[in-house]
Amino acid sequence: MISADRVAAVVLGMEVDRRTADREQAEAAERAAVELGRADLAARARLVVADALARGGELAASAPLLHEVHRWAVLENDQYVLARTHFLLSILHTCLGDNAQARRHALMSVDHLPDHVPPLIRGAHLVILALSVDVVSRADAAPYHAEALDIAAAAGDHELSRSVLNNMAYAAYQDGDAAAAGEFVERMRRLVDRTGVELRPPDLDTIARVQLLQGRFDEAERTLLPLVEPGVSRRDVEGNMLPEVLLTLAEAQRLGGALDRAEATVERCRTVSAQRGMVDVGARARRELARLHAARHRFREAYEEQCRYDEESQALRSAEREEQARLAQLVFESREGQRETVRFREMALRDALTGLYNRRFVDAQLPALLSRAEQRGEAVSAALVDIDFFKRINDTLSHEVGDLVLQRVATVMAGAVDEPATVARLGGEEFVVVLPGAGAQEAIARCERIRAAIQSHPWSELTGDLPVTVSIGVSSAADGRITSAALLSQADRNLYAAKRSGRNRVLADPS
Ligand code: GH3
Ligand code: MG
Ligand code: MG
Repeated sequence: MISADRVAAVVLGMEVDRRTADREQAEAAERAAVELGRADLAARARLVVADALARGGELAASAPLLHEVHRWAVLENDQYVLARTHFLLSILHTCLGDNAQARRHALMSVDHLPDHVPPLIRGAHLVILALSVDVVSRADAAPYHAEALDIAAAAGDHELSRSVLNNMAYAAYQDGDAAAAGEFVERMRRLVDRTGVELRPPDLDTIARVQLLQGRFDEAERTLLPLVEPGVSRRDVEGNMLPEVLLTLAEAQRLGGALDRAEATVERCRTVSAQRGMVDVGARARRELARLHAARHRFREAYEEQCRYDEESQALRSAEREEQARLAQLVFESREGQRETVRFREMALRDALTGLYNRRFVDAQLPALLSRAEQRGEAVSAALVDIDFFKRINDTLSHEVGDLVLQRVATVMAGAVDEPATVARLGGEEFVVVLPGAGAQEAIARCERIRAAIQSHPWSELTGDLPVTVSIGVSSAADGRITSAALLSQADRNLYAAKRSGRNRVLADPS
């Protein structure tokens, strides 16, 4: 089996570099984590799976996984997993067009982040937070951008610096703040000079837009031309960026007075958008064409083109709203329905009241533990621990005190048992202690220490005159050759005998 450290390193690697994380690797990591009994790593790996699905456009498949892991993290109070879940939920809600939710999750994705996380993780969370806050207030977002920049600089991650500066420039551009936008573009250029990091098509598109805002039309054209030359085969340009770039370029050419070039660029934009099914850019190309006609004083054509743009964009907006509503409904349903999913139940491996493992964990782990013991010919023991006259504590004191006693018994047991051991709460006031490697004699001695530790605990502050003791039934298999059902039912018989013979004692298999 691979070690937990190895799985943790793989999962962290995928969290830090989201672009290279792939679904199969994440699923393999999740299986390994489950095998190791590391529910936290399994949860993180599953988040990587959800992220990969979302980046592949499968939002409806991604959402249930996110909600599942979120509920697990809430139950476990796992701050890091909570932070990661909110981070991905923020991105999901951005895709759904729900900026308020996106912002709420982004805030929590930073709030829950523990102090010691790798800086680049914090940086990524800050980037998402800054983007979601930018929508309402550029001033409020500024400190988050700034901290992300600091982290990027300290880590020498120039790609992150470049992308934060691009985000800041774009936000300023959208605000119509030419001075601030120009300043961020300058900083991007200085970063390129200093570090050699390469500007990507989205950066160049931002720069060109800022130049348009500044009235520097020729420069904007020069910024974009290299991207649209035939034979340029950068992945981003081949992807969904080319039509956008062409549209910005056409605008630059029109404003610079090069109307023929602008017209040719718009035509190319429309062809490429149609080929790639990018109807939204295609519609905006019509608006650009209308403006081009107007610049040529062909007002009739301009008017007609503008009307077609209005129609198309309206149809698009309502289709988009429908699609977003459909997805939002799926996301909502997955949040409500995931309590029932098998996967979620598998993941909740701890008991909420005591923090011990729960029955699910035992059911999942004991068979594997027994088969390992059998392979190695090692002994294994299990003990069922039941609180004596617990009903009396509930009835004379209160159910709340009963809960406190359960928690305290759990703590005392966990402290009194020698490793290696697994302690779990099976339900009610019944616990199990699994002792791999322990034969009958050793198991009896170790359980006797547990029994004594509970009896001698200072209970009076909690229960007054009522003592708290436990009865324990132990069962062992010298060579590990036993099923978990047989081991536990033998222990249960011995527990029953311990109760019958006076309680507060340890009873083992008759030899
Ligand atoms: P015995 O010595 O024979 O084990 O007697 P007992 O009173 O401990 O056993 P019994 O099975 O009759 O009672 C168990 C009680 O535990 C009944 C149930 O109300 C209570 N109980 C089960 N789960 C919880 C819980 O989560 N919190 C509290 N406070 N009580 C619980
Ligand atoms: Mg009891
Ligand atoms: Mg009981």
